[in-house]
Amino acid sequence: MKKILNKLYSTNNLERRELIKLLSSIDNKHKKILFEYADIVRKKIYGKKVFLRGIIEFSNYCKNSCMYCGLYASNKIINRYRMSKFEIMECCKKGYEMGYRTFVLQSGEDPYYTDEMLKSTISSIKHAFPDAAITLSIGERTKLSFNMLFNAGADRYLLRHEAAEKNLYEKLHPHMSHDNRINCLKILKDIGYQVGAGFIVGLPNQSLEDIVEDLMFLKNLNPHMVGIGPFISHPQTPLKNSPNGSVDMTIICLSIIRLLLPHVLLPATTALRCLDAHSWERSLKAGANVIMTNLTPQEQRKKYDIYKGKGNTADNANTLTVEVKDLIKNAGYEVDMGRGDHISISKLSLI
Ligand code: SAM
Repeated sequence: MKKILNKLYSTNNLERRELIKLLSSIDNKHKKILFEYADIVRKKIYGKKVFLRGIIEFSNYCKNSCMYCGLYASNKIINRYRMSKFEIMECCKKGYEMGYRTFVLQSGEDPYYTDEMLKSTISSIKHAFPDAAITLSIGERTKLSFNMLFNAGADRYLLRHEAAEKNLYEKLHPHMSHDNRINCLKILKDIGYQVGAGFIVGLPNQSLEDIVEDLMFLKNLNPHMVGIGPFISHPQTPLKNSPNGSVDMTIICLSIIRLLLPHVLLPATTALRCLDAHSWERSLKAGANVIMTNLTPQEQRKKYDIYKGKGNTADNANTLTVEVKDLIKNAGYEVDMGRGDHISISKLSLI
């Protein structure tokens, strides 16, 4: 096991069989070494900085039927909402005053928001807050649309691939195309977005080999950001009786991703914290270097019910920000409220 870890640390790569061995038989002693290696690499590239992003969940309407997600189209029990451009701008304004310089606009895949509407919102945010970055996380769109939103000022795009293994993907995403999702990621990269991919750990019927597929897919795609989180069952979905994913396995994957892609921006995700109150601190010590704080107004936030417990916190954005800053400092890291671009982009802007 030590040989495999040393190879991963020194070459930033492993073969499929080595990844399977690592995931299937790592013990506590070697987990500690893996996390230390990931922490060393992250500190070499990004120092102790943890970038804070403000996320605005502006619509919980979705046309898709991802079987794990509480927002899926046939969920008739959920209370749906859409935020107007004015409401989104108000969230950005509050976030900006708190010091945020990245706004992540996330929604279900909601065709109500046309390219024109999104362009207008993006340009207004950029006009009002020119030193802030905009990340979109609004699902699959056409190449034309991705281009228009980029030209309007969007900097980054998060589109998790969800599962690299095609059969697993297709079982969980009726009427969706794996090829199209992967193609979207390639188009986004070609356009010039900073791109985020990622997957869910512990999906029903997911094997260790499937997770290895995810890791190898990420290595190959070489995205700027990777978001992963454990599967959390939602009581109004077809997967309501499936067990949650493992926090431990998710943190192991975070470390492996840091070593496979040393320069990546790697969030400690909300789903992790939902299952284990200490998991953000553990993730930061295992290679993660981003945290997203929720700027969605409480009224809407509790309706953005992707998985059980997601919108439960009663704390407002100010309180959450203070809590997260304390958590980062107590874990031995430094809060960074700047744009927090991928290192290849921030270096370019210095030239
Ligand atoms: N609609 C956009 C898209 O498709 O990329 C973004 C919003 S989507 C709700 C955000 C992410 O939530 C998904 O990429 C998925 O990985 C995650 N997610 C949804 N349901 C989940 C669940 N039950 N457990 C863990 N993660 C989940």
